[in-house]
Amino acid sequence: MSNKYETVIGLEVHVQLATKTKAFCGCSTKFGAVPNTQVCPVCLGLPGVLPVFNKKAFEYAIKLAIALDCDLQSIVKFDRKNYYYPDLPKNYQISQYDMPLAYNGKIVIDAEREGEFRAIGVTRAHLEEDAGKLIHDERLPFSYIDLNRTGTPLLEIVSEPDIRTPDEAYKYLTVLKQIIEYLEISDCNMEEGSLRCDANVSIRKKGAAELGSKVEIKNLNSFKAVRDALFFEEVRQEEILEDGGGISQETRLWDADKNVTISMRSKEAAHDYRYFPEPDLVPFEVKKGDIEAVRKNMPELPAKKRKRFLDEYKLNAKDVDVLISQRDIANLFESVAKNVQKPQIAANWVKGEVMKHLKEKNTDVKGLKLNPEDLSKIITMVENGTVSGLSAKEILADCIENGDKPDDIIEKKGLKQVSDEDELSRIVSEVIDNNVKSVTDFKNGKTNALSFLVGQVMKTSKGKANPKIAGEMLQKMLLS
Ligand SMILES: [Zn+2]
Repeated sequence: MSNKYETVIGLEVHVQLATKTKAFCGCSTKFGAVPNTQVCPVCLGLPGVLPVFNKKAFEYAIKLAIALDCDLQSIVKFDRKNYYYPDLPKNYQISQYDMPLAYNGKIVIDAEREGEFRAIGVTRAHLEEDAGKLIHDERLPFSYIDLNRTGTPLLEIVSEPDIRTPDEAYKYLTVLKQIIEYLEISDCNMEEGSLRCDANVSIRKKGAAELGSKVEIKNLNSFKAVRDALFFEEVRQEEILEDGGGISQETRLWDADKNVTISMRSKEAAHDYRYFPEPDLVPFEVKKGDIEAVRKNMPELPAKKRKRFLDEYKLNAKDVDVLISQRDIANLFESVAKNVQKPQIAANWVKGEVMKHLKEKNTDVKGLKLNPEDLSKIITMVENGTVSGLSAKEILADCIENGDKPDDIIEKKGLKQVSDEDELSRIVSEVIDNNVKSVTDFKNGKTNALSFLVGQVMKTSKGKANPKIAGEMLQKMLLS
């Protein structure tokens, strides 16, 4: 987009709260069950039933509201949002209209200039229930309906139109997701729909006070899709305005294959939904004691952890950001850092080897059979020369793969590092005899020939030689 215009973005995020049962009935929320097996008269909207609000959903919502620095409404009141759609058997969705659970919060993201931050306002966060899922199969002349998801608790988080670039939108979502993961109130799985995002975007001439007509983009199933769709929309809207046209207020769908947004329908307004108070759920008071109880059990959040890691472990910001990216990774690092000499070395192992294994196995820390004591032990053994760095990586891989103990692996594979002078000097002599050219090179002043020779020692010893001692011994022998 050119410099003439400025973009105004607001995001609406739906977070599926990871309660075991639905928002207003006892049906399971487990993903992937046989369609229409997790339903009951309440979530099917049959006549004569009464909803009962899930206490856990309330607790999770409060947790997130506190984490986003929101003000909390003292009364919880539900409303009916009326609309007809095949995935909504009741013909209304229980939601919150004029009295959202929480409002006036913020999400702090990195500003463009390094080391600076920007707060994006959170207008409101309200509780509601999810709809069912329509399944379309193009080969068939009809569609399927799965109502297992109907009634799953959601928290919708609406941002202020404070976001100015697609990159900022991406950062906002990343920070929000990280906070939700730290709170352990949703699995945030975008593929399974536990985290969904709609974006409102408009552009205006720089310096203009009025907002342009906004377009809502739906069908954004990854953070990358959000960013790409916003980039596309900025350019599309500018082209229309530059041609003297006007932007129609509408809902558009993102087509990730073609990288374009497509017009879906004209945007509906709140009055189209004929909201009215839900008569089956009486408003109830949010007790201070309940909020305090939740507050007491809050984990340390990413921003605070980040600051503490910088101060306490003297790591650089880049390393800290990697370590705090997931709560379990941060915890693993801390447990290891406490038991080794230098926190930086613990950080290197966790963000290097451990994260490599996470990636390869496409899993999280819980999915690895790694206990922090074992990793601390491996690191300590490298530090004191018991095993080589190379062997240590092998040991770690075995710990992760089979859950074996480092000592047993070393024993079984004979990985104890050779620091014994006699044995080492035998290997070093052998290498010198077998690499006449490199020896001559070294003697002629080519110092990098030495690292080649050390490499040969490592190879001959099957990685068990202590490289430091081997290097010293080689030099001594070659220069004598
Ligand atoms: Zn149910």
